[in-house]
Amino acid sequence: TTFTELGLAQPLLKALDAEGYVTPTPVQAQAIPYIIAGRDLLGIAQTGTGKTAAFALPILHRLLNDPKPVPKKGCRVLVLSPTRELASQIHQSFKTYGRFANLSSTVIFGGVSGMAQARTMARGVDILVATPGRLIDHLGEGAVSLRDVEVAVLDEADQMLDMGFILPIRRLIKAMSPVRQNLFFSATMPDAIGSLAGEILRDPALVRV
Ligand code: AMP
Repeated sequence: TTFTELGLAQPLLKALDAEGYVTPTPVQAQAIPYIIAGRDLLGIAQTGTGKTAAFALPILHRLLNDPKPVPKKGCRVLVLSPTRELASQIHQSFKTYGRFANLSSTVIFGGVSGMAQARTMARGVDILVATPGRLIDHLGEGAVSLRDVEVAVLDEADQMLDMGFILPIRRLIKAMSPVRQNLFFSATMPDAIGSLAGEILRDPALVRV
């Protein structure tokens, strides 16, 4: 399989070419068609398998093919990540793959002032990458709304469990519109993660690498 055969939009192919990516990794080759088709997805994959691009590329593809104004205080795509390091990396990946696409994105995490984060969110973004705790704070203050989320990604779900983020995640999910695409990634599937996936996902495609 090639990235062109996966049907990705031209600006994304151009960015991949600039990055020197030639061949999709197995998780990319398997997951991208399902995500482009709008399916919910359960991905069992470790870091290093190329799973970030496996969700970032088809999400950017969807935004490019369905341009809409960004929702005030909100986002069209929400990616939840357990740590600020991972959140920053994911945000950087969206910027890299989206460099020829005119889309807005930001990252929100704790340990820094929330004021600039709230200011950026006032006008809204296409893509928001966030850690759960700080996002809950912004939600409670009314600085962020999740009503317009079209695609929700939960990355490293097993690490979320280890860090005590399961209740915050349930709260965040409740704040979203029920009409959305859900992508759920975890390296392992302990019972608590399997049942969380069962609560969130609707008829998911399964990709295991
Ligand atoms: P990840 O598993 O998302 O953390 O990605 C692991 C690393 O692989 C990152 O440094 C990516 O830039 C790189 N990568 C992802 N997909 C590809 C690909 N198809 N070809 C070459 N490198 C890739």
